[in-house]
Amino acid sequence: MGQKVKCLNCGQTIEGDLKGTFIQCKCGKIAIDQTSQYVR
Ligand SMILES: [Zn+2]
Repeated sequence: MGQKVKCLNCGQTIEGDLKGTFIQCKCGKIAIDQTSQYVR
């Protein structure tokens, strides 16, 4: 399934799905899409 990333800034865990949905944590520090994760 999708990958999970926990934001160390706000503590929220976001989980990507397989539809390519772009998801950001509530503080916007990290985001995830279908194939990649980003840390800003
Ligand atoms: Zn965050």
